[in-house]
Amino acid sequence: MASQSHHLNFVLLPLMAPGHIIPMIDMAKLLAKRGVGVKIIVTHLDAARFSSVIDRAVESGLSIRLIKVRFPCEEAGLPPGCESADLLPSYALLPNFFTAINLLQKPVEEMLNELRPNPSCIISDKHIVWTVETCDKLEIPRLVFDGMSCFTQVVTHNLYTSKIHETVGETQPFLVPFLPDKIELTRPQLPGLFNPGPTDVKGYRELVRETEVLAYGMVVNTFEEMENRYVEEFKKLERGKVWCVGPLSLCNNDDLDRVQRGNQTSVDFDQCLKWLDCKKQRSVVYACLGSLGRLSPAQFIELALGLEESSHPFILVVKGGTRSEEIEKWISDEGIEERCRERGLFVRGWAPQVLILSHPAVGAFLTHCGWNSTLEGISAGLPMITWPIFAEQFLNEKLVVQIQKTGVRVGARGVVHLGVDEKPENKVTRDGIKEAVEKAMDEREEGCERRKRAQILGEIAKRSVEEGSSSYLNITRLIQDIEQLLNNKRF
Ligand code: UDP
Repeated sequence: MASQSHHLNFVLLPLMAPGHIIPMIDMAKLLAKRGVGVKIIVTHLDAARFSSVIDRAVESGLSIRLIKVRFPCEEAGLPPGCESADLLPSYALLPNFFTAINLLQKPVEEMLNELRPNPSCIISDKHIVWTVETCDKLEIPRLVFDGMSCFTQVVTHNLYTSKIHETVGETQPFLVPFLPDKIELTRPQLPGLFNPGPTDVKGYRELVRETEVLAYGMVVNTFEEMENRYVEEFKKLERGKVWCVGPLSLCNNDDLDRVQRGNQTSVDFDQCLKWLDCKKQRSVVYACLGSLGRLSPAQFIELALGLEESSHPFILVVKGGTRSEEIEKWISDEGIEERCRERGLFVRGWAPQVLILSHPAVGAFLTHCGWNSTLEGISAGLPMITWPIFAEQFLNEKLVVQIQKTGVRVGARGVVHLGVDEKPENKVTRDGIKEAVEKAMDEREEGCERRKRAQILGEIAKRSVEEGSSSYLNITRLIQDIEQLLNNKRF
């Protein structure tokens, strides 16, 4: 454990959404293990969600503290308790959610002013744009955690500067310019900055982009070996101030940390492990579409039937949100859970994802390609069945399927925006799912080669976080950079 950084104090300010806060909690543990004092600003709800994990880290001697701030639901017009994006009853409330985040500026600045010792820097989620002003006032550096790959960063930059997508028709494929690989996309596949949805907060993404480029540097949840050429490109754009410190999920070394990562799991994890223990090695498909993505009942039916029609055991995480009733009614009327009793495990609510992915019985991961899930699948050395839904997930699919060649597509064609059902032309079919599952689980040459590539990449991922390896050294460099900056007092 590096101890020379005991005098450094980092404040972490995550966005209130599982896919954003989970990697920040992992990052806090990694920084604390290297002697940095870490404070994480969280709402009361997130404090409850993460307190067991943090308490255990503190008991093991790490200097981490959760600082609670009241989330102003009422003032922002949100129902009580809607302190995290996954709890919004409707995505039409996203503008209110961002209003609440903006209202946090004053109380958080007051807290920061009183913190002793003074923070050495803030690592802010890119969506918390007011931290630009906060860090100016406090005269401390502002680092940004963006939660995406360097590949996505470079593609986003090249689209933003070239505006190539504005020169083509709605569904006409175009090549993203100036990339090391030939990446073809269509407009409906682009992330929100270029393809806003109906619940998008007007101008907010532009503001995020403008404030992101003002950051002192970027902390990225990736590892250099996986996307070296894109890391180099991104470093050129960021004056070298890019630190790839992932895969962050790999800091969870014991089962309890894996089980409790993100939320209290809804299943008895012993039962889940026992179920997996009874299955053959690499035989199970684990299907989970993230923490936010709520499939329409029609798409859920295709997913469940596609899994059933493939000949493999599966775990299906059911996240119905406001459509739960309709989905549960279909499950019960159809009798699918009963019919698949031997072969399928239906998990309601929060699944212990990293624990499941690390089990030897799991053979493939059907994912919505959220960046955390993508990297967790890569770290587990698994081939992926890709069903991108929103945000930058189609770019993550390109990385997995085309560049790493470890994935098989279910055939999704365009983004389904949060809060709206898919357009008919974007519907994924049970046949598409069944074919992709069979291809990913295939025992013949193509399947074996894909599995081998995934396994090798998983081994490289695990090595990258070991002492002396790339991500480990990048944390050292990040700490040294901030130390030097504070010594020189110029940023
Ligand atoms: N996750 C989990 N259990 C669930 C659903 C999600 O542990 O039932 C975790 C998953 O491991 C990942 C995060 O939640 O770390 C989801 O982040 P991601 O970027 O994949 O997708 P998002 O939910 O932001 O769309």
